[in-house]
Amino acid sequence: MRKPFIAGNWKMNKLSGDAAEYGEAFVKALAEAGVDLDKVDVGLFVPFVHLTTVRDACAAAGIAVGAQNMHYKESGAYTGEVSVAMLADLDIRNTIIGHSERRQYFGETSGDCAKKVKAAVAAGIRPVLCVGESLDDREAGRYQEVVREMLLGSLEDVTAEEAEKTVIAYEPVWAIGTGKTATSDQAQEMAAFIRSVLAEKYGAPVADAMIIQYGGSVKPSNVAELMAKPDIDGALVGGASLKTDDFVKLAAFDASVLK
Ligand code: PEP
Repeated sequence: MRKPFIAGNWKMNKLSGDAAEYGEAFVKALAEAGVDLDKVDVGLFVPFVHLTTVRDACAAAGIAVGAQNMHYKESGAYTGEVSVAMLADLDIRNTIIGHSERRQYFGETSGDCAKKVKAAVAAGIRPVLCVGESLDDREAGRYQEVVREMLLGSLEDVTAEEAEKTVIAYEPVWAIGTGKTATSDQAQEMAAFIRSVLAEKYGAPVADAMIIQYGGSVKPSNVAELMAKPDIDGALVGGASLKTDDFVKLAAFDASVLK
């Protein structure tokens, strides 16, 4: 049985006061909504500068706190970067890797992602590895090919033991921040496809144990339909995670839909 994982990605939003206020309000509101963190993993991926604030407000309550990126080296001459060792030192145990905005605007490659996945797992940090096709790839019908290549490239030299500790987020680029959600059938088709690629590489038992999230305009109104699909184990949520009310509603999705 895979434990569902609902995670928010604040992207480059919020100032320090907002982060502290959100963290405190979120812990309270989740408890009031009756979200059982033994049954559902809930996470917040926040800008580096807010990590300790959100960790202090949320980690003791059992909320997973994570970064949105990291460098795979421990230290060195990489101006502007934050290393895997720095995250571990702050007891940050989760990070997003290879978000499409990093691939698109900062030239991050699948090769970089593979190094980051390995370094994160080695440091005891759970990577959430993002893959997804562009609108052109979707419309040209080559979306499976593209996602397969991105997934395998981002897992190059990643062992089965490392993969088991990795979460995959399927995020079609055309559905991120656009208000356009993939239909639950489209999301399920790709989650099942990703699981089949993982099974080819690592074997079915490993693939069956791995958490696959869907991300792309997930909202309180569509989360249950997505979570009802057999291969979708969670959501990575951008816009709708910025307000505690919306994100609590998402995390409190009707768990009776779970398979
Ligand atoms: C994301 O940032 O990963 C994302 C899916 O954003 P949104 O929910 O706003 O589409």
